[in-house]
Amino acid sequence: MLGKEIPLFTPKTKQWHIVIVLAVCTVVAVPSSADQAASGIVDSQTFLRRNLTPAGPPASASAAAVEKLLGQMTLKEKIGQMTQLEIGMITDGQGQSIRINSEKLHKAVGEYGVGSIINVNDEALPAPKWQEIIRAIQAEAKKSRLQIPVLYGLDSIHGATYVAGSTLFPQPLAMAATWNPELMLHGSQISAAETRKAGVPWSFSPVLDAGRQPLWARLWETFGEDTYLATVMGVATVRGYEGSDLSSPNNVSASLKHYIGYSYPTTGGDRTPALIPENTLREYFLPAFAAAVKAGAHTVMVNSSEVNGTPGHANSYLLKNVLRDELGLQGFVVSDWADIKLLVTTHHAAETEKDATRIAVLAGIDMSMVPSDYSFSNLLLELVQEEKVPASRIDEAVRRILTVKYQLGLFDDPLRGIDSKTVIGSPESRQVSLEAARESITLLKNENHALPLAKTAHVLVTGPDADSLIPLNNGWSYTWQGDRASLYPKDRATILQAIQEKIGAANVTYIPGATYNQEVDSAQAAEAASKADAVVVCLGEWAYAETPGNIPDLTLPDAQLVLALKIMETKKPVILVLTEGRPRIISRIADSARAIVMAYNPSNEGGQAIADILFGDVNPSGKLPITYPRSTNRLFTYDHKMFSGEDWGEGKAMAAPQFEFGSGLSYTTFSYADLHVAPATASGSQNVHVDVTVKNSGSRAGKEVVQLYLNERVASVTPPLKRLKRFAKVLLQPGESRQVSFELTSDDLSFISADNKRVVEPGVFDVRIGGLQQTFEWK
Ligand code: BGC
Repeated sequence: MLGKEIPLFTPKTKQWHIVIVLAVCTVVAVPSSADQAASGIVDSQTFLRRNLTPAGPPASASAAAVEKLLGQMTLKEKIGQMTQLEIGMITDGQGQSIRINSEKLHKAVGEYGVGSIINVNDEALPAPKWQEIIRAIQAEAKKSRLQIPVLYGLDSIHGATYVAGSTLFPQPLAMAATWNPELMLHGSQISAAETRKAGVPWSFSPVLDAGRQPLWARLWETFGEDTYLATVMGVATVRGYEGSDLSSPNNVSASLKHYIGYSYPTTGGDRTPALIPENTLREYFLPAFAAAVKAGAHTVMVNSSEVNGTPGHANSYLLKNVLRDELGLQGFVVSDWADIKLLVTTHHAAETEKDATRIAVLAGIDMSMVPSDYSFSNLLLELVQEEKVPASRIDEAVRRILTVKYQLGLFDDPLRGIDSKTVIGSPESRQVSLEAARESITLLKNENHALPLAKTAHVLVTGPDADSLIPLNNGWSYTWQGDRASLYPKDRATILQAIQEKIGAANVTYIPGATYNQEVDSAQAAEAASKADAVVVCLGEWAYAETPGNIPDLTLPDAQLVLALKIMETKKPVILVLTEGRPRIISRIADSARAIVMAYNPSNEGGQAIADILFGDVNPSGKLPITYPRSTNRLFTYDHKMFSGEDWGEGKAMAAPQFEFGSGLSYTTFSYADLHVAPATASGSQNVHVDVTVKNSGSRAGKEVVQLYLNERVASVTPPLKRLKRFAKVLLQPGESRQVSFELTSDDLSFISADNKRVVEPGVFDVRIGGLQQTFEWK
């Protein structure tokens, strides 16, 4: 492994009250996916309207059976259902040599009657091996008194992470950069089918944490900083996973995580505290969860950390009043890894594990990811016997868990999915991943048309990320940390290999130059650069997940910057390709690079997708789902409030990031005209209609993301400069123009007031699309 910042594998020991109004609106006929694709336009409004219907079967279908079963269960059996263990509690060995230990399995499923088992130890397994494990677990369950099937869960974060040979997709941040929810939905369908084929009906995804803290080591697991884009992509994921019928052999239950505020630690470090005023939490963090619950998601996982001094697992207000009463979650809530114990050891919110268990269960945790002992089951049993936790609370949790098991069809067939026709990692599925990678890659700079490169050019390829699949994938790839090279497929191209395939190995020189954080042979790289026509410098990060990915500084390590600077001294055109899970600061080299390509973590087909874009076989259409900062100590999102004194002080241009949210270039050009907003004055239940014409004014076909931003000029809570309210991805041939229409409702004009209520205030609103601006007044 080349110079990874976190080289060691870290064992995974490891009063508000208002109504949430979603920015989802009314309207007319809803085109199908096929219609949308055929029409060359995918628009966010139509997409949401079509996909907000929960999957069947409804909870009512199994209510009688659930009540009957509950009536037969002992207290111990009920508490067993609320217990989730990791795979090591029923197996011996590691990696591929993992095997069921029948004594352990009997203790877990036979004696304790655990409801759920999760995870790997500690690498992806082939589907047949999973099937063998799941068969053994369900056979043990069948032998138990009430024969309740066990719910297995895995982190299928960008595809079926832990199923060997599965189709991996670009990580969620990259998927957000496609601004194409149809692609997200399609990828999620494949991910669900490949997970369930292994016998696993539950995925711990999507991550709906708002990616508004760029230092955070899990930024790439999010859909970026914008509330609306994350809402659309989150709904797409839930729909792709759960389909229209959760019991189908191709579907899995989603788990929305990590409810809520986990992604905004003040320090930037994973699992460190956040301070988020309630109106901010409701404005920016809650809507994606609200929409995904509305789309029917069946489970929710809780924030390991704390917000405003209350740990996520002890926050009854957020778990009950908000998640249940306001958002209307029907399914169950699962803790994150060992988090009840952490109430004692990390949060100091309870003196003993027993009291932590009481606090968490009363706060609303239905299932505890314990994961490696029986303390939760034993302690909860005592608590109920001592009447410190009412039996009715246990029944409530178990009712929810059993209902989801019924909805998944597990009572009919606990092995459902195993015999489905799904092929793991089929060429068709890989093609979808390739399309997604191509649509995600974002061209941030292209001075004097440095790109595309001519296929006759002699190119030097250098940099730590040039010749490995690891940085193309990042964490949650075959292992938790994603850094085990031997597990990656041998037949996928790294960036270097894809360039060699594209223009012939004889036209490519490769010199590593640096590892992630150490100089290797940068002088030789510079020397080779002087003989090349262009240099592709592949910089960025290695792989990491969760706390091992914490960094103290967002700047790209010096060794990489120095490599780029040495090459830039040769004055040869430098094409910077960034494979990274968060926006590492590149201000020292950005100005001198001729072109900059943000590739995020595009996964196994990403090498090819990058080469396709560098040499012009694909026209880039990705747009940044985050603000790319210029300086480490000036971090803000695009929807910030007005900065006063913007032009003063050493830094000047206070609000100038390196690259803006929503930006991304193409090899063609687009022009906007005829922005119409009507009526000029509206009120009550009236909609505001917005039309704009977008034209491909260049000479090759391309996709443009039409983005509608809105702001109110004056409001009782200082208004952000602008907020994204709608978008549409449109395919246009050279010279073709197309009118794109949106409708805004009063919900879109609303915001969370100082007393935490969603309100609409009369005033003047600016609508902005593609450099044009119109206003309307709300009375
Ligand atoms: C992570 C979750 C994950 C869980 C199970 C935790 O450490 O925070 O996102 O789903 O482990 O692997």
